[in-house]
Amino acid sequence: MIKQKFICVCGKIYFLYTNYKKEININICCNCHPYYSKNIKKSNFSTIIKNFNKKYEIYFKK
Ligand SMILES: [Zn+2]
Repeated sequence: MIKQKFICVCGKIYFLYTNYKKEININICCNCHPYYSKNIKKSNFSTIIKNFNKKYEIYFKK
């Protein structure tokens, strides 16, 4: 496990331990969450979360 940089589209940078070797760009983080929940209908929001989890599943499993 190495400390890796996660960069969110909102500009927030996180350092997390992962096996992934490169910087990782993410589309949503806990910083964006309230923004999305306010501005996107709940049905759309749950779809976004599902897609996100599917996409990044590989990183979080390790
Ligand atoms: Zn963010």
